[in-house]
Amino acid sequence: MNLQFNTNEKGNLEIGGVDALELAQEYGTPLYVLDEMRIRDNYQRVEQAFSSEYSDFKIFYAAKANTNLAVMRILEQEGSGIDAVSPGEIYTALLAGFEPERILFTGNNVTSEELQFALDSGVRINLDSVSMLERLAGLDNAEGTKISFRVNPMVGAGHHDHCITGGELSKFGVMEQEAVDVYKKAKSLGFEPVGIHTHIGSGILDPEPFKLAVKVLMDIAGRVHQEAGVEFEFIDFGGGLGIPYTPEEPVLNIKQFASEIVALYKDKLSEYGIDSPTMCIEPGRYIVGDAGYLLTRVNTVKQSYRKFIGVDAGFNTLLRPTMYDSYHHILVVDKPTAQPSQNVDVAGNICESGDLFARNRPLPNIIEGDVLSIMNAGAYSFSMSSQYNSRPLPAEVIVQEGKVDVIRERETYADLLSKQNLPLRFFK
Ligand SMILES: *Cc1c(COP(=O)(O)O)cnc(C)c1O
Repeated sequence: MNLQFNTNEKGNLEIGGVDALELAQEYGTPLYVLDEMRIRDNYQRVEQAFSSEYSDFKIFYAAKANTNLAVMRILEQEGSGIDAVSPGEIYTALLAGFEPERILFTGNNVTSEELQFALDSGVRINLDSVSMLERLAGLDNAEGTKISFRVNPMVGAGHHDHCITGGELSKFGVMEQEAVDVYKKAKSLGFEPVGIHTHIGSGILDPEPFKLAVKVLMDIAGRVHQEAGVEFEFIDFGGGLGIPYTPEEPVLNIKQFASEIVALYKDKLSEYGIDSPTMCIEPGRYIVGDAGYLLTRVNTVKQSYRKFIGVDAGFNTLLRPTMYDSYHHILVVDKPTAQPSQNVDVAGNICESGDLFARNRPLPNIIEGDVLSIMNAGAYSFSMSSQYNSRPLPAEVIVQEGKVDVIRERETYADLLSKQNLPLRFFK
């Protein structure tokens, strides 16, 4: 089984040296729990795997996986850069202490105002279209800016159609056949193009499509170097490194993955005479996914046409099962290793039938009041959450060597309304 977890002497699930049942009792449910050591270990594993093969290597953590400031601070301390996809993520990264040069802004369908914000912040700008290039050229202080382009290598991969970001159906990037021209155009507009980027999808456990994308991007980079005279400071292969969500899925062999990619990279650099640029990748899920847990309490056990285990979290707190049909492993916190004895549906508290964490899932006996842990909830969980059904957002805590810190307070009902204004006439 590829899902790792610890138990303590009571037999309860333990996270970062803290009893998960006590966390639920002390901080309430639903509760997001992050394991600091796991985040650091994940980061260091990728860092070491790649930089031992190619020293000029840099990780740009994809902030959208989890934008909590504590997570960002951990990655800042580890030496990461940031892949930001919106001005809000740039703002957060700057606040978390990242210097602008460590932030790469890869926007998609952004406004000119948002581009101006990125320019004024001094971050690196990765362009997605000719439209974006032309609009950037018209903005204040654009002259001489270092830019890069996101290219669609016509290779896509991912755990769900919505997460495949390369190929002819994808809205992302410039086309392979226009790549040389957009770089020439960028130069003629007074920019300094220094990078090339791609990101083919998310949740990749099979290295083959990623390797193919590396090959294609390097061939494009080679042509851009030779035909448009671009000297690359960096080449960025994006994120997408997957983690096992089901017990059967394989773990990505990161050392082997890194050595295969770096070998390809070096071959292509010498084939095209490109002078050793920084090699970048942008993992999000891989860094934080398995470092997060969503603790939720069972409030209803109902035998209807099916057996439903009703819990106090919903797709407003973890959207992936509903949005992508994703599997998340579920443990009973006070007996995480118990054998399954029944097949049940685990349902959230949102008024939609699609609000299910699991359908027909083998689980041990569960009674009302039990606390469940939804595993691998560190990425695309809180960051995709909403107040749908007027449910205040849960708290987030981080654990480290037996210590617990609240890194986001549980919202109150008042928070639900804090930005609303009621025009005077409605008081009459
Ligand atoms: C979402 C995203 C990533 C990270 O994807 P993961 O699957 O979490 O690794 C990296 N780069 C870009 C541009 C993205 O949009």
